[in-house]
Amino acid sequence: MKNILLIVIDGLGDRPNAIFNGLTALEYAYTPNMDRLAGMGTNGLMYPVDIGVVAGSDTSHLSILGYDPSLVYTGRGPFEAMGLGINVKPGDIAFRANFATVDPSGTVTDRRAGRSSMETGKLAREISMNIDGIDFLVKEGVEHRAALVMRGKDLSPDVSDSDPHSAGARVKRIEAKSESGKFTAGVLNKYLDTARKILRESPSNSKRKQHGLPEANELLIRGAGIVPELQDFSSKFGLKAACVAGVPIITGIASLAGMEIHKNERMTGTVNSDFDAKISTALDLLGKYDFVLVNIKGPDVAGHDRNPVLKKEVIERIDKAFERLIPAGSGNVICITGDHSTPCSVGEHSGDPVPILLYTEGCRRDRVNAFNEVASADGSLRIKSGEVMRYLMQMSDRSEKYGA
Ligand SMILES: [Zn+2]
Repeated sequence: MKNILLIVIDGLGDRPNAIFNGLTALEYAYTPNMDRLAGMGTNGLMYPVDIGVVAGSDTSHLSILGYDPSLVYTGRGPFEAMGLGINVKPGDIAFRANFATVDPSGTVTDRRAGRSSMETGKLAREISMNIDGIDFLVKEGVEHRAALVMRGKDLSPDVSDSDPHSAGARVKRIEAKSESGKFTAGVLNKYLDTARKILRESPSNSKRKQHGLPEANELLIRGAGIVPELQDFSSKFGLKAACVAGVPIITGIASLAGMEIHKNERMTGTVNSDFDAKISTALDLLGKYDFVLVNIKGPDVAGHDRNPVLKKEVIERIDKAFERLIPAGSGNVICITGDHSTPCSVGEHSGDPVPILLYTEGCRRDRVNAFNEVASADGSLRIKSGEVMRYLMQMSDRSEKYGA
């Protein structure tokens, strides 16, 4: 049996760029290491979640790891909260949240409080508290964004939003959507009333006013979801697993799956992340774990920035870090793919499939000699993200025979 190294390059896939004469950043980039692995391995295209689905990093990683997002993805709240670094636990109820500006009558004047994050970290801490045995944790995000997590007994995600979703409307009372949501709605309304008072009286809001910013005097919440209980990855596949990643949403998902997280301060989840550190950490771990997941975020950031030149540069730096993969690949299974496409021409995720390559000594080869959206399409595989683990299990000689 072999061990498995799965490297997911975030937002890897792209579409043609005029600046590269119609090539994608990955096609245009100089990537001798990925190309060599492609030449020695099995290649193809992978559809994140399913054909035509515009996947998020969260749903796609869940699916790649063998969890069906249609069963475990109960709303963006829990995953946004993880993305902001809240250490969520199964059973927590999480909401997406906005700091907003509301007039004295309770009417929303600015749903995004001037899109400014000024003092929102302090405000978030001021309104994190315990009410009736329920912990309320608020964490600020970029601009006006935040997340709210409720932790405690008898909680349910069956509650409505306080966010009226448009300016000029009044902040809504939370309603239970079913009998099971009644307690949650009650304690939540009590919490929001308390938080509102604190926000209005906070010196942080006086400071915002002095700077000419609208007050962040309301926390609008929406999209309640319950943090799912994921079946332990090690019991699901019989693999002792570790994750090397810099972004909280990925480490959050990996923790829920029971993987051990390995990261350091140089693994930032940005275009300047230390790719060498990630790969060398992963290769060290590969002796101690059966399965290592690596997430490399940089290309997604460049895609969102609509910056193909940056994306190409980041991909080249990643490829440099892959130099060590080839000797390591002889005794292990190596898989390189993306979690979704983030075309620079779009600046957002798209439903385009991503290239995938799998290599281990003695594996089947096809006629592909380069790793990119176009070359990989000539490979032997067409696969959905939910099938990746099955294929990796087979390649690592870990699958049991089906039948006699
Ligand atoms: Zn993205």
